[in-house]
Amino acid sequence: MIRRTESQKEELLRVRDFVSRLGFAASDRDGDGAITRRLYNEHAAEKYQAMLIPRDHGGRGDDYLTAGIICEELSYYGIGFMPALLTTVHCAELIKIAATEKQRDVYLDAIADGKKVFGFCLTEEAAGSDISGITCEARESDDSYIISGEKSVVINSAIADYFIVIASTNPAAGRAALNAFVVDASLPGVDCDNSRFDFGFNQSVIGSVRFRDVHIPKENILGENGSGYFLVMETFDKGRPLVAAACTGAARRALDITAAYTKGRSQFGKELFSFQGVSFRLADIATRIRAAKLLYRDALSRIDEGAEFSMEASMAKLYASETLRDAAEFGLEMLGYRGFSGDSELRKIFNDAQLLISIDGSSNVQRMVIASQL
Ligand SMILES: Cc1cc2nc3c(=O)[nH]c(=O)nc-3n(C[C@H](O)[C@H](O)[C@H](O)COP(=O)(O)OP(=O)(O)OC[C@H]3O[C@@H](n4cnc5c(N)ncnc54)[C@H](O)[C@@H]3O)c2cc1C
Repeated sequence: MIRRTESQKEELLRVRDFVSRLGFAASDRDGDGAITRRLYNEHAAEKYQAMLIPRDHGGRGDDYLTAGIICEELSYYGIGFMPALLTTVHCAELIKIAATEKQRDVYLDAIADGKKVFGFCLTEEAAGSDISGITCEARESDDSYIISGEKSVVINSAIADYFIVIASTNPAAGRAALNAFVVDASLPGVDCDNSRFDFGFNQSVIGSVRFRDVHIPKENILGENGSGYFLVMETFDKGRPLVAAACTGAARRALDITAAYTKGRSQFGKELFSFQGVSFRLADIATRIRAAKLLYRDALSRIDEGAEFSMEASMAKLYASETLRDAAEFGLEMLGYRGFSGDSELRKIFNDAQLLISIDGSSNVQRMVIASQL
């Protein structure tokens, strides 16, 4: 059964009050990061970027399940900004897993006070689902690492103060030489091209980032030498149920828009909803949304309880993202030509659903994780 504690119910009311004051349209599109930064600051006033950062570092100290419930509700009202928020949440998770106490004091506190935004630099032209092909290099010199390479697709590219960069200290050694580094985005040699992506995630800014002989202090490495691959995997595992929660919230929105529309639109002398060909499809979608909710809550509860959660996290992400896509697709079918006009919220949700299927591991990557544990 889906039960909420009293404090989770209060949290939901606070989220609803927060989004009612936000004021953005799904059609607002970010080009240079101005909209994303404004929305980030507003979310940061509620510390949503610091949901999982402990209180002694200035965060909200929420448990994972509560964080998921918040993500679901925020996403019901708008999914286009969630990647910007979740990227910083994911980066904070990687820092929590790997950082020294001194690094935690610097970076977690900076995220929690809302001043610093993070971007995550993993994917490269030849290294997508298989990150062992990463060529971005971190050459060791006396007192620094020198980072060189290009990352193809980075959420928060234009607004990030810091990037977590996955680079290799020896590209010939494959994944064993991967490491995570914190790179100050204002250093000489860091360049962003923010204009490469214009499909979906309207209130997030996404671009490529190039590093040309960027000198960073040696102490900016996160975790033990050679731990980068495992850090990325653990961060993804913990992030996937939150992405699933966001997909669940957006799917609820798509269902509500479609149900309301089909109850108001008449053809052949009846409401569309009164045809079972329509209402049965909506019944199936409502059932899948409930299943998605149970899956992501199960995965997050397992993290809270210290149980194994990697397979459950992948199941939640696979199922919720594909449920969102199917809910939005059926909604578009029902709206007819109205679904394709410029300000159609459902079309935006549909676009975002395609992207959500790709990020944090595509559907097939989730199937690989699940199959590996059967
Ligand atoms: C909107 C958006 C935002 C993103 N943000 C970031 C970011 O902030 N930072 C970052 O580092 N990356 C980011 N990414 C990149 C994302 O993580 C990658 O797109 C993803 O890892 C897949 O890599 P790829 O696109 O190169 O696809 P590929 O790895 O080339 O895969 C292409 C297709 O082949 C399938 N496939 C691959 N291997 C197999 C296999 N063995 N078996 C079956 N099917 C397979 C995949 O499922 C996929 O459908 C973002 C992507 C998107 C779309």
